[in-house]
Amino acid sequence: MTVYRRTLFATTALVGALSAALPLSAAHAAPAPTRAATPAPSAAPALRAAPVRAVAPGGTGLHWLMRSGQHTLVVDVVDRTGWDWPVRAASRDWTTAHVRYRYVRSCGAGVPCVVVREGSYGPTDWSGSTDAFGGQMQTFAGTVQIRLNDTYRMSATEHRAVACHELGHALGLDHDGRASSCLESVPQAVHSDGVDRTRLEALYGHGG
Ligand SMILES: [Zn+2]
Repeated sequence: MTVYRRTLFATTALVGALSAALPLSAAHAAPAPTRAATPAPSAAPALRAAPVRAVAPGGTGLHWLMRSGQHTLVVDVVDRTGWDWPVRAASRDWTTAHVRYRYVRSCGAGVPCVVVREGSYGPTDWSGSTDAFGGQMQTFAGTVQIRLNDTYRMSATEHRAVACHELGHALGLDHDGRASSCLESVPQAVHSDGVDRTRLEALYGHGG
């Protein structure tokens, strides 16, 4: 099992490490420093390694396995957040002809599953983080974990943008510089846009 780690900070470019043996963890920035409840962090940790190879434009290099003949990716979502994190609403931004969701209490074995938690993770410089492991054929292995950080005081709009952002990663999409996309590294947009959904379909729309 390979793992990778990707980290993004609010004012830096995406950096990451991909190695056959490194833990894969992606920390993703969101509207943070200006609204941070804590002082701005000092220098960002040393960042190393190369971007992850993409399998499709806009992709992180990992995606959920689609079995032969499978036309629709069904992602199970275990939402352990409270009302202020609009996870379910945000998932509608990532619903396409070939991607949909089921809300479940726990992940079953061997099925695509995303667990979303909230917590006060401290002044980490990120408002949301997505962690995943890579298995064979550049597919996710096991569950994908999203952490939503309650440390920073954020508006409802910002919560929605961060939820949208991390769910995009949980499907295999990477950052995007377009201000119309919630996948912007520090998202201003609350929703995905048409380019995002086209990329999602490029990843999952060719099954069967
Ligand atoms: Zn991100």
